[in-house]
Amino acid sequence: MTKPEIVFLMYHELELPGRKLVQSDPGYTRYVLSESAFSRQLEWLKQNNWLGLCVSDALNFPSQPSVAITFDDGCETDLLAAAPLLKKNGFQATFYITTGFLGRTGYLSRAHLKELSDAGFEIGCHSRTHAYLTDLSPMQMANEVELPKAEIEQVIGKRVEHFSCPGGRYDERVARAARNSGYLTVTTSRFSANSSSTDKFNLGRVTILRTTSTADFERICRGQGLWLANAADRVRNGARNLLGNNLYDQLRGKLLRSG
Ligand SMILES: [Zn+2]
Repeated sequence: MTKPEIVFLMYHELELPGRKLVQSDPGYTRYVLSESAFSRQLEWLKQNNWLGLCVSDALNFPSQPSVAITFDDGCETDLLAAAPLLKKNGFQATFYITTGFLGRTGYLSRAHLKELSDAGFEIGCHSRTHAYLTDLSPMQMANEVELPKAEIEQVIGKRVEHFSCPGGRYDERVARAARNSGYLTVTTSRFSANSSSTDKFNLGRVTILRTTSTADFERICRGQGLWLANAADRVRNGARNLLGNNLYDQLRGKLLRSG
């Protein structure tokens, strides 16, 4: 028998009719789904008897077909749009919060964050300033990994055990910093499913994009074709390592605007 594998889905801000997004550049909006598109994906899961889990529950690897549902950055729409739809379908999720964004226009406030946690959703950490961790000194790393954990715990009154990497930037040092700070897992943006033998400090996660079709979504949940997406991602990572994070972002912005 093959080991059960679970795909961890990654979402960001959701688009609501008449509501302004926190950023409007194409490099950002490609990660933004409409509320109705997100709703259709949850309905597909529900109708096909899939479970939508938080990271902690996903790591029990239930035998029923399941995905982990995760959100990065801590946008206001986590509470306004995602939470009600998740509740409606009986699903759990993990919301990774960037503490430096709390209270900014379009992001959760501290009160919102507490509300999301009290509603039963799992809260994780997505750094303090959304810095690319692979660029940082050990001191800066601690400020981005250890400090925001305590900050969120103070707001929600619960332990924060899961960390996700800003911009997917990941290396051994990030894993070590997270482990030393008391986290139990780190999720990356590596396109792969996770099983009980996957390193908990290097869990794969698949980004759901604005352009992800229903057929693509179903394939992603089943873990099909991720190797191909991963190969494309490796090419991108190769370019990023070659150019450095800054130059890579500038070039990527140019390409997306002209595309
Ligand atoms: Zn992020």
